[in-house]
Amino acid sequence: MSPSGTWTNWSGDETCRPNRTLQPRSADELADATSSAAAAGQTVRVVGAGHSFSDQVCTDGLLLNLDRLSGLQHVDTEAGLVTVGAGTRLSDLNVQLARHGLALPNLGDIDRQSIAGAMSTGTHGTGRKLGNLATQIEALELVLADGTKLSCTNAEPEVLRAARVSLGALGVITSCTLRVVPAFALRAESRSMRLAETLGRLDELVDTNDHFEFFLFPHTDTALVKANNRTDEAVRPPRALTRGIAEFAENGVFEAVCRAGRRFPSRIPRLNRVVTRLMAPSEYVDQSYRVFASRRSVRFTEMEWALPRAVCAEVLQEILRVIDRDRLDVGFPIEVRFVAADELSHLSPAYGRETAYLAVHMYQGMAWEPYFRAVQDIALAFEGRPHWGKRHLMEADELAARYPAWDRFQAVRSRLDPQGTFTNAHLRRVLGPVGISGTAASADDHLIGSPTTKGR
Ligand SMILES: Cc1cc2nc3c(=O)[nH]c(=O)nc-3n(C[C@H](O)[C@H](O)[C@H](O)COP(=O)(O)OP(=O)(O)OC[C@H]3O[C@@H](n4cnc5c(N)ncnc54)[C@H](O)[C@@H]3O)c2cc1C
Repeated sequence: MSPSGTWTNWSGDETCRPNRTLQPRSADELADATSSAAAAGQTVRVVGAGHSFSDQVCTDGLLLNLDRLSGLQHVDTEAGLVTVGAGTRLSDLNVQLARHGLALPNLGDIDRQSIAGAMSTGTHGTGRKLGNLATQIEALELVLADGTKLSCTNAEPEVLRAARVSLGALGVITSCTLRVVPAFALRAESRSMRLAETLGRLDELVDTNDHFEFFLFPHTDTALVKANNRTDEAVRPPRALTRGIAEFAENGVFEAVCRAGRRFPSRIPRLNRVVTRLMAPSEYVDQSYRVFASRRSVRFTEMEWALPRAVCAEVLQEILRVIDRDRLDVGFPIEVRFVAADELSHLSPAYGRETAYLAVHMYQGMAWEPYFRAVQDIALAFEGRPHWGKRHLMEADELAARYPAWDRFQAVRSRLDPQGTFTNAHLRRVLGPVGISGTAASADDHLIGSPTTKGR
């Protein structure tokens, strides 16, 4: 939030001016502010770390930030369950869990997000046996528009399935109870590989590694493949100097290459070929959370598609064909990851199918729409579902057809936020107005039950 009261997201291309911002110190203060705003007809939104690429946080009403509702609240090592304040950043949570000999089983490639923000958009890492991060949620606490506090647990699975990935459409999450695992180390290996070999061996690479992903540089035939596997070996992290050089290459050198590409787009293919020649193999062992997350200082915007795993190679080749055909200036690599099917969240992009995620990026200040539109057309032809935290150009009626449990989500939404207090312009576009597309709302009412109120 700037001193002028303007909120801006991480990539710097979405802004809004809320009527009021608040960092509540307690769930009661949060509930009072929410119910007052709702009574005044204002929209209420929550910002985590502002790392989503869309305008989904934006409001001209009340913008809440839960940084003061953060930290470990309860640890049950035996049961492998922890309860954390919703504003807790993943980076802080990882360190606190490590002190208890615990860890999250998987993470995405950064750790700056808040726990509630990451869960709410279906944030994921890579690993064919691991679902997105929201699959770790055992329970969560919500504050509804009228200030009511609602415990979402397996006692009412329909509400919990709606609340795990909800884009903030149901209420304000104040805490989450997560399933965690004993702390573990990973052997991290990365190297360049010919694209043809990567795609030819894709199933083997995905199935024989705990966490496999690759980055493909458009205009080259080279992929950077990364495999992280659990190990009992003693940790031998990269030396500070080596890590520093790697971070400089990933951020400083890459920033310079991106700037050169933005200034002289016709040189992007040559720049990409130089970058792939500079990629050196690396191997080290470290605690899981230090391996998963990297520092990202190069600013960009992003679109990502969840696709049936079986079509991954075909979709990738089609994207490369269109980049060549339409002479699109694409410097950033395409990132490819793999996630297990789940049906624990109605809006999980991996709902009901083993998933390959393909992410495309555009450096800040460059036109992203022609590229992203072309990628979206391809992804839609292969049953793609967009990542909820990233850019896409889809609307609610098109999205509804891609989510088998769409109506069940809408039924819970109509029940928990009947006035649409948490629905801003972005949510109206991607979820529709409250009550409209929930065709199964009344039929499913018996599944939902009444909110379990505590205190208010
Ligand atoms: C550099 C970078 C790297 C990324 N890497 C990955 C990756 O590896 N994998 C991946 O899947 N995604 C990735 N993302 C996307 C990112 O994980 C998601 O956009 C995530 O939602 C951001 O978390 P946040 O805390 O910043 O949430 P925000 O962007 O602030 O909010 C996201 C949504 O959650 C809602 N929300 C936040 N807190 C609450 C709350 N307490 N109660 C109710 N609703 C709430 C917001 O209203 C909004 O709708 C990356 C993003 C960036 C910028």
